[in-house]
Amino acid sequence: MRLSDLIHACEVLAPESLAEEWDSVGLQTGSPGVVVSRVLLALDATAETLAEARAAGAQCLLTHHPLIFRPLRSLREDRPEGRLLAALVRDGIALYVAHTNLDLARPGTSDALADALGIEKTRALVPAERPVGERRFKLAVFVPTTDAEGVRAAMGDAGAGAIGNYSHCSFSAPGTGSFRPLAGAHPAIGTVGAQERVAEEKVEALVPARLLPRVVAAMLAAHPYEEVAYDIYPLAPPPSGAGLGRVGSLADPCSLAELVGRARERLSPANVAVMGDPARRIERVAVCGGSGGDLVDAAASAGADALLTGDVKHHQALRARDLGLAVVDASHYATERPVLDLLAARLREALPAEVEIQVSTVNTDPFRQP
Ligand SMILES: [Zn+2]
Repeated sequence: MRLSDLIHACEVLAPESLAEEWDSVGLQTGSPGVVVSRVLLALDATAETLAEARAAGAQCLLTHHPLIFRPLRSLREDRPEGRLLAALVRDGIALYVAHTNLDLARPGTSDALADALGIEKTRALVPAERPVGERRFKLAVFVPTTDAEGVRAAMGDAGAGAIGNYSHCSFSAPGTGSFRPLAGAHPAIGTVGAQERVAEEKVEALVPARLLPRVVAAMLAAHPYEEVAYDIYPLAPPPSGAGLGRVGSLADPCSLAELVGRARERLSPANVAVMGDPARRIERVAVCGGSGGDLVDAAASAGADALLTGDVKHHQALRARDLGLAVVDASHYATERPVLDLLAARLREALPAEVEIQVSTVNTDPFRQP
């Protein structure tokens, strides 16, 4: 497998186009052409995870947090960032980053967290504004019934009508086409000057933007008319479910104290801070892996009893209290860590069996219980 195959698989799971504009994602060091047989997944690129990648013989370190984030103005090895980048390049280990694109993707960071806590029937707390996936069009063409099959086949062969595990999907409806050939016309059906009525079919199929010129050319080549009537409709993206945070219902409702207990047990956070009455009954929970303190308002208006996330600030917790929302800060690292297993499982499904996908065993949480 080449690194480009891994990048493609990641792109399917968490398209780079989904990342926030301020973010820095994708390939940060290395070349897409190199051969990759082992990949190490970690939340952070640190001296420890790099050593782990080296020891494992990995050719790629795939991390959640970017190493190159602010514009890089130097590569000084007397500074931590430069030292790490230089080591990656020297060791020939590529660094690939899936950050906010993995947060917003479905399934993504907060889905893994919701699953770990037994939160079901989730939806995005703040739906993604940017459309997910490629721009698509609907091509509709009017064809004499006798030629409809040939035109359908030509469009399908050029890539129109690919939906999931199906190709050559189209819809056709019969009708009557009407036209009058003028002087200079060479009509396939009818004569110059006479109004003609022809039994036709309207053939419609879905076409991704990148295939549109090819599909239109194939359709025109297969169509018998010298002037073909066809329409191209731009399509709105289907709801993807992508977005920041998730809100859903606990499979097994409990008290706030019990929710905190579950978080401790299943996420192993170094520290948990709780705001709210421990006896309060919790049914609906909002979660966000990483830093979700600014989702307090969204969680409250989604009807959540509690928000479980990391990095909650003082004023955000005070606002949550005023809104009647309990808050569990189970740390940035621990609330993001479950996504590594999710990502590993998805990559193992998508990539050849001989490629080893390994999850880091290094805990890169800088905080520890004293
Ligand atoms: Zn994070």
